[in-house]
Amino acid sequence: LKNEEREAFTAAIDQGTTSSRFLIFDGSGTPQASHQVEFGQLYPHSGWIEHDPYEILNSVNECIEKATRKFLDKGYEVGDIKALGITNQRETTVVWDTETGKPLYNAIVWPDTRTAKLVHELRKKTGSEKLRRLCGLPLSTYPSSVKLMWMLRHVPAVQSALRNDRLSFGTVDTWLLYNLTGGVKNGLHVTDPTNASRTMFCNIDTLEYDDFLIDWFGVRGVKLPKIVPSSDPDAYGNISDGVLAGTKITGCLGDQSAALVGQCAFTPGMAKNTYGTGCFLLYNTGYEPVISENGLLTTVAYAFKGFKPVYALEGSIAVAGSAIKFLRDNLGLIKESSEVGELAAKVPDTGGVVFVTAFSGLFAPYWIDDAQGTIFGITQYTTKEHIARATIEATCYQAKAILAAMEKDSGTALHALAVDGGMSNSDVCMQLQADIMGIDVDRPQMRETTALGAAIAAGFAVNLWKEFDELKGINRDNRKTFSPMTDEGTREKWFSLWSKAVERSRGWVD
Ligand code: ADP
Repeated sequence: LKNEEREAFTAAIDQGTTSSRFLIFDGSGTPQASHQVEFGQLYPHSGWIEHDPYEILNSVNECIEKATRKFLDKGYEVGDIKALGITNQRETTVVWDTETGKPLYNAIVWPDTRTAKLVHELRKKTGSEKLRRLCGLPLSTYPSSVKLMWMLRHVPAVQSALRNDRLSFGTVDTWLLYNLTGGVKNGLHVTDPTNASRTMFCNIDTLEYDDFLIDWFGVRGVKLPKIVPSSDPDAYGNISDGVLAGTKITGCLGDQSAALVGQCAFTPGMAKNTYGTGCFLLYNTGYEPVISENGLLTTVAYAFKGFKPVYALEGSIAVAGSAIKFLRDNLGLIKESSEVGELAAKVPDTGGVVFVTAFSGLFAPYWIDDAQGTIFGITQYTTKEHIARATIEATCYQAKAILAAMEKDSGTALHALAVDGGMSNSDVCMQLQADIMGIDVDRPQMRETTALGAAIAAGFAVNLWKEFDELKGINRDNRKTFSPMTDEGTREKWFSLWSKAVERSRGWVD
């Protein structure tokens, strides 16, 4: 085919908490080739979670190579990929030596709680009350700032790199972009506002680094990535090696922002909930950052070049799919995550069991650092089916609590919730979510919305689309709606039992 007759494809690197993927989408948003690689989770101590930065990078390169080969085998050409974007697990913190490009420590992963004591100490420091207004985030173990501070206090190689002016910092987008564009040989050191807004170093109004924040966290001298738009034709450079060498990268979004874009939630008042390792509900608030009074985060939804930045209120749940993984890997109740729904559906209810899956404390809207994973209401009657059901319900109750907080902050009630992510594959989980929340849950057939969002950001930069309205039809076919089959009284009764359990999960050990 001649060039002008060939179909345009978009592609996305999706670097998640448990796996990396590369997907190539056609113009309707359908993946035409993809590859996924799971990588190792390192748990050196209770509460610690690390990734090997090279394993992350290698998994991404393997996905790019294998998915692109599948694409070429279908008769397409590399040049048919008109735009390439990146989306990534957020907050996870990587540091490397500016001179050698080598990591100085494993990546500290977002739900890691080793910083709990540090956070406790920082809460007492003068100025802590200003943080949320400046950067949109409450002080907790979750953002990159405290992870970097911990490294600066405890890792000699990181301390000496700072003294020698060769300490480079990045979230996973930055680490990947640096390496994909050449690493120590001319690799770019950049990030986008959605990722930068999760570090606590970035001012939520200006979307630039804030001197007060940099000094307050004591990270002056650390080389921070340049903040560039989430969709930009020139800011991200070209892939330097491999099958896609020469391909331009034109989009970058943190995973939850990407899912919001992939669900086409471009209008204020639209929301999405992604059930991956954790679960994240984002609510589009338009051009103004809304500072929550009910335990939610203020974050950048997306900031495309040529458009005003759009903000979101976010409810973050640390543990969702990872609790299903816990049933599989730690307790052996199931062999595959996909079995959990079937197991839970064998019983009509949890038989009075409530499982507060607070493996990383509790995030939004509670922010209880010292909450511990606790199972309440166990009797001789309790079976693994009840435990499986209570595990699913834990995520659903937290999502309900977040929804209530969003309604208070925004003053409007949501009538339907667009969902995606690993756990949303389960019909049982999504029906339970509808039953617990009392609103419709709306699931697309193509659930790789995170990758689709990154591909959309990349496509905008090269004018595959010029207006958000042009995307209205994308990924709309064959969606499934789960409607609540409960009455309000039942929902309130269940939820008050959950709330009681949350209170009792506090402070089990110091
Ligand atoms: P991430 O991007 O955070 O790595 P994914 O969106 O890939 O996460 O989702 C992976 C998570 O979803 C895993 O923790 C897994 O336990 C859970 N999961 C996957 N499929 C199912 C299913 N059918 N039912 C319930 N949970 C599932």
